[in-house]
Amino acid sequence: MERTLAIVKPDAVERRLAGQIIQRIEDAGFEIRAMRRIHLSKRQAEGFYAVHRGRPFFPSLTDFMASGPTVVLVLEAPDAISKWRTLMGATDPAKAEAGTLRKEFAQSIERNATHGSDAPETAAVEIGYFFAGIDLI
Ligand code: ATP
Ligand code: MG
Repeated sequence: MERTLAIVKPDAVERRLAGQIIQRIEDAGFEIRAMRRIHLSKRQAEGFYAVHRGRPFFPSLTDFMASGPTVVLVLEAPDAISKWRTLMGATDPAKAEAGTLRKEFAQSIERNATHGSDAPETAAVEIGYFFAGIDLI
């Protein structure tokens, strides 16, 4: 079993798509091990996306991520990290495959509806950013 961190980003929560996205998560066979709604501060968004500090899109990305509430989840499944990224689709919705969440729900490369961890090490750090060990027993 593997765990990954998923976020329903502010653009999707604002458009009341969280329920549909969570349904798709369950339909795909993930177990939701933890879930919370959180409106990140700018500093919290910068901390979360610290690997992208210095990129031209970093100021705008972190403004966006702090612009409204998100829903943050820990998903569990065999091969959860790549399985969730496959369900999300490409970062840029114009390049995302049909049937993926970003193809269906993203508005732009920035306002792209969902986040997913990209490797076991980043998944562990990202899960720990939002959840304590006691939340995940
Ligand atoms: P995420 O980490 O959110 O799951 P990702 O791994 O597909 O997305 P990253 O390269 O990690 O993509 O970029 C993080 C986020 O930054 C993207 O999801 C998107 O919201 C934003 N982003 C990435 N590239 C660009 C860009 N060229 N212009 C604007 N925003 C971007
Ligand atoms: Mg990423």
